[in-house]
Amino acid sequence: MNDIMTVLGPIAADQLGFTLVHEHLLVSAAGLLHSHPHLHGPDPEGEAIAALQHAKDAGIDSIIDCTTFDLGRVPELLVRASEATGVHIVNTTGWWLDVPRFLSGVSANQMAEEFIRDAEEGFRGTNIRAGLLKCAADFQGVTPDLEVMARAVARAHKATGLPVMVHSYPTGQVARRQLEILGEEGVDLRRVKVDHCNDTTDVEYLTWILDQGCFIGLDRYPGRLVSAAARTRTMKELIDAGYADRLCPSHDCICVTVYKERPDGTMPEHHGYFDHNPDQMLFIHRHVLPELREMGVDDDVISQLFIDNPRRFLAGV
Ligand SMILES: [Zn+2]
Repeated sequence: MNDIMTVLGPIAADQLGFTLVHEHLLVSAAGLLHSHPHLHGPDPEGEAIAALQHAKDAGIDSIIDCTTFDLGRVPELLVRASEATGVHIVNTTGWWLDVPRFLSGVSANQMAEEFIRDAEEGFRGTNIRAGLLKCAADFQGVTPDLEVMARAVARAHKATGLPVMVHSYPTGQVARRQLEILGEEGVDLRRVKVDHCNDTTDVEYLTWILDQGCFIGLDRYPGRLVSAAARTRTMKELIDAGYADRLCPSHDCICVTVYKERPDGTMPEHHGYFDHNPDQMLFIHRHVLPELREMGVDDDVISQLFIDNPRRFLAGV
């Protein structure tokens, strides 16, 4: 079994424990926290650490922080948050959706080299290394720029052996094209997790993804497009269909982001995402686990979802 690379260095896979596979301590734009910190409220780092401490106190041992460069990753903040709370944090390289115009025309091999450096040497100026790779496409499908990033991620995966997470848009069945690209690049789809899959209740489509060998992220709670209750019913349906070994629930929680002045000129106490999900990374503990137990899902399956599957996805076994 491979070690898992956290922001504090490698850990044995069995140290991971209860893991949320898709969260964000701080989401912004590349460089924005550094250049304009006050946009992120009075104490962004303190707020992020407090959210992670609440998670730790509830029994969450590890998170994957899926914040790429273009989502404003601050690797040092992740290190300080992990040190302050004892929560293992695995961070990703690769790219989300914001490809700046001056990167148009850069090749997949060039980007792959950059991602490999993030994995093997560390984010530039640090020795903090990525523990997985991410590519993305959304409602516009796989645009030419995003195809370059997906191919770069596939090539970096082949060079490093790190697993791949795929931000996808289930309403448009975008994973069909994303998995085709990864397949063309020779990626073993058992090392891939397709995310945001609980933004649909289309079990036929989700089963198709699972049958390619992938893990799927049921990683939006409470989410917006589908009710939390419907998300949990879909999860139960997939468990009953025999896919419990490849389902990965999480929140896609954004603990801190940009604060926005109200129309009346006052500032809110929290950024908008907090108002949407005040439970932050505890929503599953407070609302989903009791519901799953009520539906008859036993503790062995819950361990599979939150301990075994994240470990198998990250460590490749
Ligand atoms: Zn996310």
